[in-house]
Amino acid sequence: MADKINLFDLDREAMTAWFIDNGEKPFRAKQLLKWIYHERVTDFDAMTDLSKPLREKLKNIAELRFPTIIADKTASDGTRKWIFRYDCGNSIEAVFIPEDDRGTLCISSQAGCALACPFCSTGHAGFNRNLTTGEIIVQVWLAKDILNCDRHGNNRVVTNVVLMGMGEPLVNFNNVLPATRLMMDDHAFGLSKRRVTLSTSGIVPAIHALREVTDLSLAVSLHAPNDELRNQIVPVNARYGLAALLDACHQYVRHNGQHGGVTWEYVMLRDVNDSLEHARQLAELLRGIPGKINLIPFNAFPGSRYQCSRRSDILAFQRYLTENGYVATIRKTRGEDIDAACGQLVGQFKDRLIRERKQTRKEVETV
Ligand code: SAH
Ligand code: SF4
Repeated sequence: MADKINLFDLDREAMTAWFIDNGEKPFRAKQLLKWIYHERVTDFDAMTDLSKPLREKLKNIAELRFPTIIADKTASDGTRKWIFRYDCGNSIEAVFIPEDDRGTLCISSQAGCALACPFCSTGHAGFNRNLTTGEIIVQVWLAKDILNCDRHGNNRVVTNVVLMGMGEPLVNFNNVLPATRLMMDDHAFGLSKRRVTLSTSGIVPAIHALREVTDLSLAVSLHAPNDELRNQIVPVNARYGLAALLDACHQYVRHNGQHGGVTWEYVMLRDVNDSLEHARQLAELLRGIPGKINLIPFNAFPGSRYQCSRRSDILAFQRYLTENGYVATIRKTRGEDIDAACGQLVGQFKDRLIRERKQTRKEVETV
């Protein structure tokens, strides 16, 4: 028999089409989504407003596929990190960051990343594969499920989702888009577009395509104010340079009438991109595009060749931007004791990925 369909792979439109293909009424999609995402019921027998024959049919042709949770750690500041394993060689991390007024879940879109930014531990580990829509949305499902079961504290709810974990989401466009639709669909997680943020290193054609199909919030990993430097820190810049990137971002916010504009991410690397001259160039570059700048203290990892900027340089950089009319914040480092800071989800991941790859190779060789 053919593999069962993973219902986590289907957004409302796809699920409606799937029901029609299977000779069922289209409204079944809304019913099923509510069971899965509102009630968090995964047992078809418990879906009481579906007829018995439909429940039997679903058991035969569909399933809800879950990864194995291979780690679940909580840091002293309440940040919580999970490692989810989908299959051999493909583990990813998701991190929940509780704050007074919100709870942000940082999720992954790929196992690894091919774009090889030299300051990023995911980039160092290389690329394994794209995650499916189901593998992306199940991170949100599981985090919500686990956190609601948590007896400590009531504020541990996921109010925001950021695609800032492992991977470049716009390289996995076709799987990421339906997952973000499920995040924003009232029949599923129902988050507002301002609370779902996709972070990209700047895949320009995909930003143009995104503009036409969604209005989620956009974060862009800028990290350098000129092409020469950005070519080194964000290698994909050699393909899509700053002028084209900024134009695509400007069009995105204009088209979507985005309230807050773009979030520009800027990792602070000591003596690399953190001088006042860089701040001046940055202020010049971003003039006229609505947005705010998020300065990210660099998280060192084993084998990284950079250091985090001095605190005084970060503050001076921020001050320059603020004095020149920008909103510039410094990202708080969270979950340090469990390697959970955003962009540094993977901790010992590199070793593990290599181990898992060796294991996969061995398995392939022995087949
Ligand atoms: N690929 C996407 C999303 C994942 S990376 C992107 O590049 O935007 C999420 C954010 O973490 C990016 O801004 C990335 O530049 C940043 N990041 C990666 N490694 C980091 C590190 N070691 N220290 C601080 N930020 C890092
Ligand atoms: Fe990939 Fe983003 Fe890391 Fe660059 S910063 S290697 S694009 S995950």
